[in-house]
Formats: sequence, C-alpha cells, structure tokens
Amino acid sequence: MLTALKPQPADKILQLIQMFREDARADKIDLGVGVYKDPTGLTPVMRAVKAAEKRLWEVETTKTYTGLADEPAYNAAMAKLILAGAVPADRVASVATPGGTGAVRQALELIRMASPEATVWISNPTWPNHLSIVKYLGIPMREYRYFDAETGAVDAEGMMEDLAQVKAGDVVLLHGCCHNPTGANPNPVQWLAICESLARTGAVPLIDLAYQGFGDGLEMDAAATRLLATRLPEVLIAASCSKNFGIYRERTGILIAIGEAAGRGTVQANLNFLNRQNYSFPPDHGARLVTMILEDETLSADWKAELEEVRLNMLTLRRQLADALQAETGSNRFGFVAEHRGMFSRLGITPAEVERLRTEHGVYMVGDSRLNIAGLNRTTVPVLARAVAKVLR
Ligand code: PMP
Repeated sequence: MLTALKPQPADKILQLIQMFREDARADKIDLGVGVYKDPTGLTPVMRAVKAAEKRLWEVETTKTYTGLADEPAYNAAMAKLILAGAVPADRVASVATPGGTGAVRQALELIRMASPEATVWISNPTWPNHLSIVKYLGIPMREYRYFDAETGAVDAEGMMEDLAQVKAGDVVLLHGCCHNPTGANPNPVQWLAICESLARTGAVPLIDLAYQGFGDGLEMDAAATRLLATRLPEVLIAASCSKNFGIYRERTGILIAIGEAAGRGTVQANLNFLNRQNYSFPPDHGARLVTMILEDETLSADWKAELEEVRLNMLTLRRQLADALQAETGSNRFGFVAEHRGMFSRLGITPAEVERLRTEHGVYMVGDSRLNIAGLNRTTVPVLARAVAKVLR
C-alpha cells in the first residue's frame, strides 16, 4: 500500500534552510524562514513567557485532558485580545487549535461542512500553505489580485474588481495585518471598501491573523478584523500566537467563528466536533501561558513592552534598508520597504536575481524575493543593499 504513494514536492522554505545550513561561508545571511530574530540573531523566549512557565510549574496540579475546545479562559482571553468587545459574546464561538495553521485548516473544514459549493478566494500571492490546504481539501478556489509589483503596494483597483465577482456564501481569505509574503496591506479606507464589498456580495471573510502586534501595534493590527466583525453577519478568524508570543513550537492558535447569536450553539458544537475528529484535544501548554499572561496585569504589560521592542526593531530595519537600497541603487524603487509592515517584504526582483544573491553573495531569500526583515541587523543591512545593487547592474 505504501508503495502507491507519490513523491511530495519539497517545501521551498525548508529546502532553503537546508541549503543555508550547508553553506560554509561565514558571512552568509538567512532571510528565508519566518521567525523573528533579535539583533544578535536569536529567537528568544519572551520574558513574560519565561515568567509564566515558572509560575505554571508551581501552580499546575494536573495534566488531565482539557475541554474539547480548550479551557474557556484561553478562548475568552484571545477573543478579548483580538476583538476587544467589538462583538457581543453570544455571537462568538471558538476552539483552540494547534497553531494558526491548525486554525486555518479547521476553518476550511468548517466551510466545507457548511457549504461544499462555496469557493474560497485567496490573494495572489498568499502564504503558500493557504493554497495547498485549500487544494488538499478539494475546496473550489479562485485568486483575487492583490499586489502591484511596480509600486510594491496593494493593487486596490484589481482587488476590488475581483472581489466584486465573489458570490454570496463564498469565502474571502484575508490577511488581517502584515500580509505574508508581500508586506503590503490595505489602508483603513481600503479596508472599509473591502468591508462594503463583502457586505454587498454576501461573502464571508476568513481572516488569517498571524502577526497581531508586528505591524502598527496590537490594537491597530486588529482594527480591520474588528471592523469586519462589527459590520458583517458572519466572520471567521484564524489567529496564531506563534509570532507575537514567540511560542512557535508550542502550537498555539484559535479559530473564532462569529455568527447569529441563535446559531452559536450549533457552530460551537461543529467546532468541537472538528477538534474531536482531528486530534481530540488541542495542545494546552502554550494556550495556558498565553492565558496567564493576558490575565495578569504585570505579565501582560511586560509582554506588550517586549512585543513593542520587536515591532520597533523591525520598523527601524525597514527604514535603514530602504535608505541603504536608495543609496546603493540610486533609485527610489525600493521605497516601499519602509511602508510595508510585518516580518516580510517582497522585493520584486526576478528569481534569477534571487538565485545570484544566494550563489554570489550568500544571501538567502525565498524565490519570489520575499525576505524576512527580522533576519537582518545593522551590520547586514548595508551588505544586503550592496548585493542587491550588484545583481541588478
Ligand atoms: N498564517 C500566516 C499568514 C502565516 O505566515 C503563518 C506562519 N508562517 C501562519 C498562518 C501559521 O503559523 P503557525 O501555524 O506557526 O501558528
């Protein structure tokens, strides 16, 4: 039976990590994988997470199963972090999931259960896992225009034209903030237009919120999500704590489904059912840490302060990189790097140029020219800018 399996295409990012490891050059630079790195190149455990872990060790008395949807306190704390009371609690159903990926997967399975004919619209480009999970589940899919490679900004006109084609009951997958891979995001006016378009067509947004706090701050980064949640009858939110709590390997996420209050019980029962079919109980350790941090004023303040350091570090690197690229290339072609938000930017150079950056300069980025801003530091920014200028010559 196992001999019938077909080979799977290698994951491009994991392949890149492998090549980076095998590269003997001392001055190589890894801008591939999406993890935050501090100026010394480390992905630290956040102070509040360490403190919560210590406290948890002292107070935890059992490791028996949690509830199917996890501990209610986690779901409540996350709903507060994301929605800040924008929606009445009796409209909100939720389950804890293994990371944001688990939340995306459960959301898509829920959509398929509710409406097998619904088409899921994804941005072109999007996080590659969106595409592959939708395909794997056999869900009808279409792309909407998103990125203007010339300007490095959102192709608002193209996006709105495509969203106007969406049918009632279709699902539009949106990145709540910090779009991966482009780094380009709709401005508040554009979000309002997106919201109005969804209201007009009767489409349901599935918001992937993997970087709350990495863009314009915890509140601003949730503003689009809150807008859609207040204005539209049904909204799905797949959120991740991997990045903003730095707990990548703990697999901590949540799927929130907002609908009519009268239907909440059924929606919750379906979310619980999906957890039961797929893995029974969601992982608890990361969810417990997040709950402890969000419920405790001191821990929460320290977490927010450290998250803000992370965010500002990335913003500074963006400014430095935009300036260095301008100085080295003599053009403002890359000015958008400073306007982008989150961990990534798509430079808009060709795959051949990306390849030369790797072979000739030891700079590793994804083939579509997505780079992880947090992979840079003050020393490597000018090195990257010089290398980009050289391959463009
Ligand atoms: N959505 C997007 C857009 C992402 O970039 C990521 C992480 N790369 C995720 C979801 C999921 O992250 P995780 O499963 O690690 O929580």
